[in-house]
Amino acid sequence: MSDIKILLNESDIPTHWYNVVADMPKPPLPPLAPDGNPVTPEQMLAIFPGPLLEQEMSGERWIPIPEPVREIYKQWRPTPMFRARRLEQMLGTPAKIYYKYEGVSPAGSHKVNTSVPQAFFNKMVGINRLTTETGAGQWGSSMSMAGQMFGIEVRVYMVKVSYNQKPFRRSMMHTWGAEVFASPTDMTNAGRAALAADPNNPGSLGLAISEAVEEAASRKDTNYCLGSVLNHVCLHQTVIGLEAKKQFEKVGDYPDMVFACCGGGSNFAGTAFPFLADKAAGKKVRLVAAEPTSCPSLTKGVYAYDFGDVSGYTPLMKMYTLGHDFMPPSIHAGGLRYHGDSPLVCQLYNEGLIEAVAVPQIATFEAGVQFARAEGIIPAPESCHAVRACIDEALRCKASGEAKTLFFNLSGHGHFDMASYDKYFAGELVDYDYPEEAVKEALKRLPKIAA
Ligand SMILES: *Cc1c(COP(=O)(O)O)cnc(C)c1O
Repeated sequence: MSDIKILLNESDIPTHWYNVVADMPKPPLPPLAPDGNPVTPEQMLAIFPGPLLEQEMSGERWIPIPEPVREIYKQWRPTPMFRARRLEQMLGTPAKIYYKYEGVSPAGSHKVNTSVPQAFFNKMVGINRLTTETGAGQWGSSMSMAGQMFGIEVRVYMVKVSYNQKPFRRSMMHTWGAEVFASPTDMTNAGRAALAADPNNPGSLGLAISEAVEEAASRKDTNYCLGSVLNHVCLHQTVIGLEAKKQFEKVGDYPDMVFACCGGGSNFAGTAFPFLADKAAGKKVRLVAAEPTSCPSLTKGVYAYDFGDVSGYTPLMKMYTLGHDFMPPSIHAGGLRYHGDSPLVCQLYNEGLIEAVAVPQIATFEAGVQFARAEGIIPAPESCHAVRACIDEALRCKASGEAKTLFFNLSGHGHFDMASYDKYFAGELVDYDYPEEAVKEALKRLPKIAA
C-alpha cells in the first residue's frame, strides 16, 4: 500500500460524532441573555430544532450520526489523507507532512459536514423552510445543497459586497434551488434600519446574521441555521479528526502537531478535538489554530461575553472577541473574518490545551502557491492559513534537524477564489497589521452584564 494517498472504506465513516465537552476539564460556560441569566431552551427553540439544541447542550461523549446523514456523507466521505512527499522535498525538511482534503465534497469545503445534519434534524421536526447568512458564499452554498436534498426551502442573506463580487457562489446556490438576497434587504427591520442609515450599506456578516435570525424568529414554519461557532456545528465536523486518526493508524504514524485554520472555529474543532481526546488520556500532541493577523480573535482578543452578531440579536457567548461591531479589513479569506470564535475552542485555548498563531495575508498566499506547485491542489485562501502555519513548523524542523510528524486539514479548494490569487500574483495584496485602535474602540462597546 502506498503511503502517499491514505484511503479508508465506507464502513470507516464514523457512526458517532465526538463531543469534546465530555473530556473538558471544566463544563462549558453557558450562553447568556443580555440580563445575565442563561438563555432558556424555550428561547432557542424559536429558531433551532430540539435535536440540535440537545446536541448544543449535551455532555455525552459520543452522539450517534443518523443513518440518512451517513448515507449522504458516503458521497464524499471518508475524505482522502495524503502524505505531502513532494512538499517535504521542496522544503528540504526532515519533518513528515500529512494533510486531509475536505475539498472533495460537492460544495468544495468541510461545511457540508454540518449543513447535511442541520437540514436532516430540521426536517425531522417538520421544518420546511430555513434562513441563513453567508459571506463569501461557502456556507450559503453548502446549506442550499443540503436543503435541496431534504426538500427544505432555503433563503440565504448574502453580504451585499460578496453578492456583487462573487457571482459564481450565488449561481451555485441558485442551481441548488435556494433564494439568495443581497443583505441588507428591505425585508427585515434590521435591513431597513441599515438602509435608512446608509442606502449604500455594503453589508456585513453580522448584519446578515441579524436579518436571517429576525426572519426565522418571526415565522413559525421557519428555522435558522449557522455554519460555524456553535457547539453542535463543531460536533458535526469531528468526522474530520475521527477519520484522520484512523488514517494515521493505517500507516502506523501519529502527529506531533495538528494545524487547522480558524474563522468561527468549526473547522479547527472538527480537526483537532478528536486528538484532544488522546491528549486528555495522556498522549502528547500539540493542536494549533491558524488565524489572520488582520482578525486575530484568539491571539489578540479579550476573553469576555459578547454578542455573535452586529445588532445584538444573538445570546452572549464567552469567547475571545475583538468586539461584536469590529469590522475586520477586507482580506481574501472571507471565511476567517469573524470577530469571535467558538466558545468551546476559546475555553480550551484559555485553559492552555490548544495553541493559536496569527499569519499575515501575503505569506498565506505564498504558502498556498508553494503547496499547489508541490501537491497540485489549489487551497482556498482560508486553508492557506493552515498551510502557512504547517510550512513554518516544517522549516523550523529543517533548522533544528527534528523529524516531527505534522498534520493539517485542507478545509477546501480555491477554485472560486482565483481572482484573489490573481491579485497576489499582480502584487496587489497588502498585509494588515493588528488593527489595535479599531479593536480598542470596539472593545469599549462590549455588552455589560451582571457578574
Ligand atoms: C468557512 C471556511 C473556513 C472557516 O471555517 P470555520 O469553521 O468557521 O473556522 C475555512 N476554510 C474554508 C474553505 C471555509 O469555507
